[in-house]
Amino acid sequence: MKQGRPRSIRQGRNLPEVRADNLNVVLEALQKLQPISRSGLAEATGLTAATITHMTDELEALDLLVETPSSERQVGRRPTLLSLNHARGQVIGVELSRSIVHVIRSDFGGRPLARLERPFRATTSVKKGLALLREVIAELVDPGLPLLGIGVGIPGPVDSERGVVLGPPNFGGWRDVPLAAGLGEHFGVPCWLDDDAKAAAFGERWYGAGRHEETLLYVSLRSGVGSGLIVGDRVYRGAHELAGEIGHTTIHVDGPLCECGNRGCLETLVSIPAIMQEVRRLGLDAENPADLHRLVLAGDRKAQSVQERVYTYLSAALVNAVNHYDPALIVLGGQLVRSWPDLTETLAEKVKGRSFGYLSKDIRIVESALGRDATALGAVAIAISHILRDPQGALKPKPTVPESAALSPAAAHP
Ligand SMILES: [Zn+2]
Repeated sequence: MKQGRPRSIRQGRNLPEVRADNLNVVLEALQKLQPISRSGLAEATGLTAATITHMTDELEALDLLVETPSSERQVGRRPTLLSLNHARGQVIGVELSRSIVHVIRSDFGGRPLARLERPFRATTSVKKGLALLREVIAELVDPGLPLLGIGVGIPGPVDSERGVVLGPPNFGGWRDVPLAAGLGEHFGVPCWLDDDAKAAAFGERWYGAGRHEETLLYVSLRSGVGSGLIVGDRVYRGAHELAGEIGHTTIHVDGPLCECGNRGCLETLVSIPAIMQEVRRLGLDAENPADLHRLVLAGDRKAQSVQERVYTYLSAALVNAVNHYDPALIVLGGQLVRSWPDLTETLAEKVKGRSFGYLSKDIRIVESALGRDATALGAVAIAISHILRDPQGALKPKPTVPESAALSPAAAHP
């Protein structure tokens, strides 16, 4: 952030920035409308035919476009249709959670080509964690294809602009770790990171359940409870990148103490550890949420009451979110959603029954379309969106830093 200048003063754009903006406008239109002709692009973006030709020449020079002849015959000749070159190279998306590292290698269109998952313990040293990350990524990268960028989704709080992991709760010694710079230097490509739920929200917006919605809320239900809000195609961050901490909204004012210092946070009532604590207190024979669901189906009254209580708290939290944000779509993801097949439908009914009629009338509540891949594919989408925002800068070859110099402990803890 630029210091010493009130943020409310709008800044003008000089010519090179206007050009970069226009290139970005063309790329965004291409991504949404492809395959599309040059005249179609001009019409969609409001740019002149000459500007479009100039921009597409620039993108062709970066090998970002493919041309196909249109099947529609027009007077004189068939127009050529343009699409993004999905074979331009590979992109890596990483989900780093408290228990696993899940990595996806995708093409430039976000189509997964390979996946790799390894157990990960956040409480082991940062140095070992970084070594594992590098190892898994290196194993998945195809040496025959250009690597264009890396995206990482990790529990917040993060500083997404600087690519720094600030210190997620229950994440061992991971404090102020410049993860994006470290991985980027090691692999010689740009790297970006974001909060895991925000990454998943972005993934659902680009490749999943929210492809046709510009305002959507993704809620992740697992060992923690998080969310990501997409407004007008962008992730909403708030002043301190803490927007979306739905897990720490107060649902029960006299409820259990939360590690954030507050009482009765949603996370203390519906996170998987909170549910399993209740299961143990009641002496139920269940090791995980899927076991609990089997007991519910078998007619176990205690198990049913545990699940019913979770649904009540969750629906209250979603009603609050609907009233705060008025999203067109709520996407539910995470292990709890996959373990309880009736969760999404039950919550959708409860939310419609509880929120203002006119607000909830059109809201859709659906299950994540990307499932276990949501955060890693979201990280892919984040990387691709950054590359498309500044293709000249992002696709410039960078020198690879020798193994010994990259991500040394000194670099990880400046
Ligand atoms: Zn809390």
